[in-house]
Amino acid sequence: MRAAMITEYRQPLDIVNISDPELPKNGIIMKVRATGICRSDWHTWMGHYRDQIKLPLIPGHEMAGDVVEVGRDVTGLQPGDRVTVPFGLACGRCSICLDGNHQSCSEQIQPSTNFNGSFAELIALPRANVNVVRLPDEVGYAEAASLGCRFITAFRGVVEQAAVRPGDWLAVHGCGGVGLSAVMIAASMGVNVIAVDIDDETLGMASQIGAVAKVNALRSPSVPEEIIDMTMAVHMPR
Ligand SMILES: [Zn+2]
Ligand SMILES: [Zn+2]
Repeated sequence: MRAAMITEYRQPLDIVNISDPELPKNGIIMKVRATGICRSDWHTWMGHYRDQIKLPLIPGHEMAGDVVEVGRDVTGLQPGDRVTVPFGLACGRCSICLDGNHQSCSEQIQPSTNFNGSFAELIALPRANVNVVRLPDEVGYAEAASLGCRFITAFRGVVEQAAVRPGDWLAVHGCGGVGLSAVMIAASMGVNVIAVDIDDETLGMASQIGAVAKVNALRSPSVPEEIIDMTMAVHMPR
């Protein structure tokens, strides 16, 4: 298969032909139809995780695609299924997993850190019974590839940690992948979202997906004061 590989830190990726990945007994082989590029891929490429990874390595941990092969211990999946996975593959057996917090599993393994990732035609995904999720027909590959890292990170922050409620105000500082996901999730909950970024194009996207106000931090004399002014103006009659 063809893949984009990091062979040396901070150098262009090599496009290589390597042997297809081996089918894990408890996993699948997925044909990659879409992959995200994450800030973590940049950290990997810069060498910031060099004590955890070994080069050469195929990066990429935000993906969606089609099942092509199914290991003998896997149930409920078959070739042709459209699927995605979270960026950390949980064990499904530890006390943290049994509590429903797979994202914090202490035994989790990650594509692009512990094994080759999704910048490739094919990827082997172990622990499929616990982690591989079938996609509804109406969810496209590109949209699905964005769910397993940036979107779930934002979802936990906005919904579970911040526990926002309809009518609340929420300022999202930095509207990259995680930030725009946070805007979308909060807006869909009826929260008034103020998007903060240094890029007008990004702020435009935040408005399109539901932010009610935006602040360009490069032009604002004081971001906190501007946010306080906006939210007070709504709450307090003049
Ligand atoms: Zn990511
Ligand atoms: Zn676990």
